[in-house]
This record gives sequence, structure tokens and C-alpha cells, in this order.
Amino acid sequence: MRKIVWLAVAVTALAARPLGAQTPVPLTIVAAENFYGDIATQLAAPDAKVSSVLSNPDEDPHMFEASPSVARALSAARIVIYNGADYDPWMDKLLGAARSANRQAIVVADLVHKQAGDNPHLWYDTATVAAAAKALSAALVAADPARMALYDRRLGVFLASLQPIDAKVAAMRATYYGMSVTATEPVFGYMAAALGLTMRNERFQLAVMNDTEPAASDIVAFESDLRHRRVRVMLYSSQATDNSAKRLLRIAEQANVPVVGITETEPPGQTYQAWMTGELDALAAALAKAGS
Ligand SMILES: [Zn+2]
Repeated sequence: MRKIVWLAVAVTALAARPLGAQTPVPLTIVAAENFYGDIATQLAAPDAKVSSVLSNPDEDPHMFEASPSVARALSAARIVIYNGADYDPWMDKLLGAARSANRQAIVVADLVHKQAGDNPHLWYDTATVAAAAKALSAALVAADPARMALYDRRLGVFLASLQPIDAKVAAMRATYYGMSVTATEPVFGYMAAALGLTMRNERFQLAVMNDTEPAASDIVAFESDLRHRRVRVMLYSSQATDNSAKRLLRIAEQANVPVVGITETEPPGQTYQAWMTGELDALAAALAKAGS
């Protein structure tokens, strides 16, 4: 098992900021994952300083171990948001070690009654993202009540911006309901369920997510699905570097099963909305191609 220690540049910069008495300390938000950081930015900027810990699109978030700079950033934060459901257990540890009466912590899993053992990729459900945005907005108002009207307005804009994504999901569901797809990891699970797709090879996906060896029988079943084209599309999670997943990529290509690349963290320079829209559009194109 490969362990990775990241030094998030933004977090390091935040931690190094001097807390001078003359300059007003800005409202600071630390998000464990960059999609929550993006949502916080959409709701709070420029009235708060947002940093994200997990944002590297080339690494596997499940293998993350926090560095001391993350602990320092958290101890200075007024608002902290993280996924929970055992996705980022290092956050519980760091927050427990650096208690602060002045800090509000939002655990997204708790908002939607998910826990360890559930699919932790909660941000692939727009209803969960809406719940996270509402909780963030409430925390902003509590920390900075003078700007309540501003935070309320930005929340309204954000929630409205999710509606085109939900409309796209509904339109795709009407066309592709019940079609079988597969994936190398359960990243897209909630979105696939919202689309009414039948997801195959879930045991294999959990093994890859947990960085354990998939069972031989699960590998055989997955390969057979591809070779016999029992699935219309394979969703390929590009951030996990698992060798059996890479092998499946080659088999899918040989069998002419369309592959749609998806990412676990938000790609640099994108918004949450553009990221989800792009992946849905790519999937719709692949499903259409597979059906022709
Ligand atoms: Zn994952």
C-alpha cells in the first residue's frame, strides 16, 4: 500500500499568514476536499478565505495522510467542512487534537445520514451538495451576521445553479433508464443511481477503493462483462492507480466498450457545476454511441 503525504500549497500559505493585531483577520474556511472548498468559495468569496486540503487530481484521496501544515490551518479556521463517512478519518483526528471553541465543523455525511460503510463519494449526489451548501451558508451567517443578506443571496444563486444538472439527470434517466454500466471504483455511484442505471461489479469497485486485491471471481466477472459487452459503458476512475483497473481499461478498449473518465476530486480551474455537467455530457455521448 502506497501512502502519500501532500503539502497543500494553499494550506501552507494560510498557516503562515501572520495574525497581526492591525490587520483584521479574515473569516477562514478550510475544506478537506476541493469540491467543498469550491462551494465554500462560491458562497463566501470575497468575504472569506477558503483553502482546500485534497485537490491533487493525480493522487488517490483514499491514500491521503495529513501533514502538520494541515493541522495548523485547521486550528486557525472558523469554519471547517469535510466529507465524513470514513472518507477523511484524518480530519476527525486533527480536529480532536486541536480543539477550538470558535470553530464550526460541518460533516457532510452527517447532514444526509450517511456513515462509515456507505458509499463515501457523497458529492456525486446534488441533493447532498445542496445540503452542504445550506449548512455552509448557515455557518457563514453565524460567523459573520452582518453579511447575512449577501450570504443568503449567494446561496440562492448556488442552489439555482444545480437545477440544470438535475434537469440533465432527469432527461438522461428518461432515455437510458435500466441500462447496465460498470465502473472501476464506486465514485460515480450516487449519480448512476440517480440516472437509473444498473451498476455492475460493485464488489470489485469496493476492493479497488479500499486498496485491497479484488477477488479472482470478481475480476473474471468484470472481464466477462466487457468481453461480452453486457455493459454499455465503463466509468474509469483516473485517480486510482490500481493495476487490475488499468488492465480492465485495455480490455474495454479491445471490446469496444466506451470508456468515460471520471475524477474523484474537482479538476483544477473548474467549478463543481461545470465538472458534473462535463462528466454527464461525456456519459450521455458514450451511452448514445453504445446504443447505435
Ligand atoms: Zn474514492
